[in-house]
Amino acid sequence: MTLTIQLPDAFTRTLPDGATGADLARSIGPRLLEAALAIRTDARLQDLATPLSDGARVAVVTAKDPEALDIIRHSTAHLLAQAVRNLFPAAKVGIGPIIEDGFYYDFLVEPFFTPEDLVAIEAEMRRLVQVAVPVVREELDRDEAIHRFEALGEPLKVELVSAIPEGQVITGYRQGDFYDLCRGPHVPDTGKLKAFKLLYTAAAYWKGDEKNVQLCRIYGTAFLTQKELDEHLQRLEEAKARDHRKLGRELDLFSFHPEAPASPFFHPKGTVIYNELLAYLRSLYARKGYHEVITPQALDVSMWKTSGHYEKYQENMYFTEVDEREYALKPMNCPTHCLIYGTGKHSYRDLPIRYADFGRIHRYERSGVTQGLTRVRTFCQDDGHVYCTPDQMTVEMAAFFDFLREVYRTFGFNDVRVALSTRPEKRLGSDEVWDEAESALAEALREAGMEYHINPGEGAFYGPKIEFQVLDALKRPWQLGTLQVDYSMPARFGLTYVKPDGSEGTPVMLHRAILGSLERFLGIFIEHCAGAFPVWLAPVQAVFLPITDRTHDYARKLQAQALELGLRSELDLRNEKVNAKIRDAQLQKIPYMLVLGDREAADGTVSVRHRKDGDLGVQTVDVFFDRITTEIRQRVL
Ligand code: ZN
Repeated sequence: MTLTIQLPDAFTRTLPDGATGADLARSIGPRLLEAALAIRTDARLQDLATPLSDGARVAVVTAKDPEALDIIRHSTAHLLAQAVRNLFPAAKVGIGPIIEDGFYYDFLVEPFFTPEDLVAIEAEMRRLVQVAVPVVREELDRDEAIHRFEALGEPLKVELVSAIPEGQVITGYRQGDFYDLCRGPHVPDTGKLKAFKLLYTAAAYWKGDEKNVQLCRIYGTAFLTQKELDEHLQRLEEAKARDHRKLGRELDLFSFHPEAPASPFFHPKGTVIYNELLAYLRSLYARKGYHEVITPQALDVSMWKTSGHYEKYQENMYFTEVDEREYALKPMNCPTHCLIYGTGKHSYRDLPIRYADFGRIHRYERSGVTQGLTRVRTFCQDDGHVYCTPDQMTVEMAAFFDFLREVYRTFGFNDVRVALSTRPEKRLGSDEVWDEAESALAEALREAGMEYHINPGEGAFYGPKIEFQVLDALKRPWQLGTLQVDYSMPARFGLTYVKPDGSEGTPVMLHRAILGSLERFLGIFIEHCAGAFPVWLAPVQAVFLPITDRTHDYARKLQAQALELGLRSELDLRNEKVNAKIRDAQLQKIPYMLVLGDREAADGTVSVRHRKDGDLGVQTVDVFFDRITTEIRQRVL
């Protein structure tokens, strides 16, 4: 008996009965066997040791294939657990999945692993790589699996297996003395794992439940080559240096306090940046036909019942009671804008009406998910709502896309990715209305020539949305802007407009934001520019550095001139060497340092230093002021 196997290149290969994926790779060539990690049989990933069936379409998976990385990382997670069990026999294993950029494994262990333990564990992993321990798949029934893990002293695994329905085939992987519950596939032996690194530990609850026991989670990463691993570790180092929480402290921009968890306090310098962002957006609103409004923060729950937030969004809202009336802090501005729209009579000629709102909003986030500025409980958005007729929608959306791209260019985000998020499970409105709204957004994107992908089920409860993502300096994607089409809220608030034929229609409401939460945007942008803000955003745009006491008056005079021009500057009159003053200004990432000696004071000049370009030479005061004010006006990056 022989097997005929179809190869991806349309060739076939004949192998003896019982041949495995490894035999197939060997028959093609020893180098392929060496490189082989797994096989893909009719789109299903399997171990190399899997016996092949006659007529199957089989491809050998090597490092060149997109699936290889996940297999390597998953197998490295097993290798980690094996090393831990070798060195710490008392540690019990939890789960060890792959995650974006790596993997983790949870261990029940007391005390938690130290950084020195991680070094020892990683060394044991490398020893096991040298040994090339075979990784062998086994099929068990549930009771066998329970007995196996009981015998191994693995109570967490016993719990996992016990939850699997009886009769279902369970697969496990043996790797020396280590045994793990797993679907696979895995590399054939640990010798295939070359480029990995353990990163750090964190506490994690068993099954993510705060009522359960705490486990020690080890995070690690693995790549197909040492070069890719090194590049990744380099990026992690860079990200650490740019961490906005760290820079926020060093540059004195904001702080957090236990009195208001996950709610930032902006210091004077952070507030300057925040207000510059607002001023920039306001200047554009004036040009784009938006009207800014101000609305209350605490509103009677009856309104949140009308809007649907009470029913669909309650778990993210803050409630309070005053005069025996129940109020909620606004988690969104939309319903308040509907109340404003509803105060007047509108004809189709008045539409579109565009409201903008920088109102403070509050959303409850579980404490586990909050993180610096990027996930907070109170923030403001560059929020806006457009009320228009259904006919006007496409033009309004196109205008919004232009608006958004203009803003992103200003911040140097030229690479914009677009996703269309469709109806979620928890939603308002009929399927027909959702069909209409989803296709309107898709059509607007097509007409604007914007490529997009679909995120099924990720829309807002009142409508589908388009999400706009940018890539930062480290090529990390961040979602910023959104555009949502809403047919339901205007109807719930009884909003109308008079149509050309005199009858009443319901306007469509577009919810839109470009930067999204300003807090979050600030966190992202701090990391993007590593705290070196463009001059127009910099809290301190220039610092005057007199070399001697004799030039203090000259420095004061220049600072007064700078103030007249609206520049934000500082004066460093400390009795320090000028090099030390430059170093400190550099650490504060101040764009321009103006060194003032006797010569400059006599000639009416400044010696200009730029934080990035270094010495720019001596310039007259007028030339320098002209240069910096132009840069600010044009919002040069
Ligand atoms: Zn809204």
